[in-house]
Amino acid sequence: MTAKLIDGIGLLYTGDPAGAEEIEHAAMVVEDGRVVWTGPAAEAPDADEREDAGGRCVIPGFVDSHAHLVFAGDRTPEFDARMSGQPYTAGGIRTTVAATRAAGDAELATRAAALIAEMRRQGTTTVEIKSGYGLTVEDERRSLEIASGLVDDTTYLGAHVVPAGTDADDYVRLVTGEMLAACAPYAKWVDVFCERGAFDGDQTREILQAGIKAGLQPRVHANQLTEGPGVRIAVELGAASADHCTHLSDADVDALASSGTVATLLPGAEFSTRSPYPDARRLIDAGATVAIATDCNPGSSFTSSMPFCIALAVREMRMTPLEAVRAATYGGARALRRDDVGVLRPGSRADYVVLDAPSYVHLAYRPGVPLVTRVSS
Ligand SMILES: [Zn+2]
Repeated sequence: MTAKLIDGIGLLYTGDPAGAEEIEHAAMVVEDGRVVWTGPAAEAPDADEREDAGGRCVIPGFVDSHAHLVFAGDRTPEFDARMSGQPYTAGGIRTTVAATRAAGDAELATRAAALIAEMRRQGTTTVEIKSGYGLTVEDERRSLEIASGLVDDTTYLGAHVVPAGTDADDYVRLVTGEMLAACAPYAKWVDVFCERGAFDGDQTREILQAGIKAGLQPRVHANQLTEGPGVRIAVELGAASADHCTHLSDADVDALASSGTVATLLPGAEFSTRSPYPDARRLIDAGATVAIATDCNPGSSFTSSMPFCIALAVREMRMTPLEAVRAATYGGARALRRDDVGVLRPGSRADYVVLDAPSYVHLAYRPGVPLVTRVSS
């Protein structure tokens, strides 16, 4: 085992709200893929190797806790039409479903791996992947088998939308029965798109409870397009995260703030659908834990860039730069109930990013600029 000292860190953002969250003139020692020491450079211990960060800022790799990466096809015309004034509806998912069903396993795996590589170049070292573009027992199963070959956090989202020409009650029976049994071995999480036009409150509860019974942990696509029951169900069932949280009542905000359920905000979706952004300030001021993620998918948010989402969070959702970088690291880890990523502290994974900037503030201050110069291997 070789210990490596990363020295000359102008600002180390550790992402650890319980410890020293920021250390100036810092150093870090990593060994065998783990962080073993962080602190002021002047106190750094000896190590076998040394890397000089040259005064740059070092942060934990981003944790993108919400992404839909197993798909085929393209929705450029839909985006083009939407930007020309047509409203977004959940039905667009069906376009991707048809393309995904028609694609071979190797094509789906290659495309997902390419997106993960694209994310990594922008500083993301942990990614969650959902199914949801198969919507048959076999297509959902193979989507999750492919995802589980690429990442640790995989989510069964058979309940993304009711397939065209299928009775909703029949489909819920499939999602809670045969499809769940086929998918559960490849999934850690169960998710439902709880929304008008997708699944209502009763269906959402039933699907999540079936998933829990099969050993999966719940998370919910909640309150994206309307102020529905998704957030309340997420909190009621102890979900790790309620994702989107764009339209919230005061009761929803209170429920999130007084629970262990993270509010995961996905500003790429609002950007790409030209919709009003969620109010992160209201959630943070109430005491909720907030994460931000890309929602990378071919329909409503085809970005893989956490730095872009950080810039949006600061500019459009009233988050401070510190809150946004925290939400993209520590917050994402909380949304996946992981304590080994999203932070740089002794014992955590040595997933770190060197920014070509003196501070993480530049992620929002210099939007669109490729500041990620190095991602730990
Ligand atoms: Zn999503």
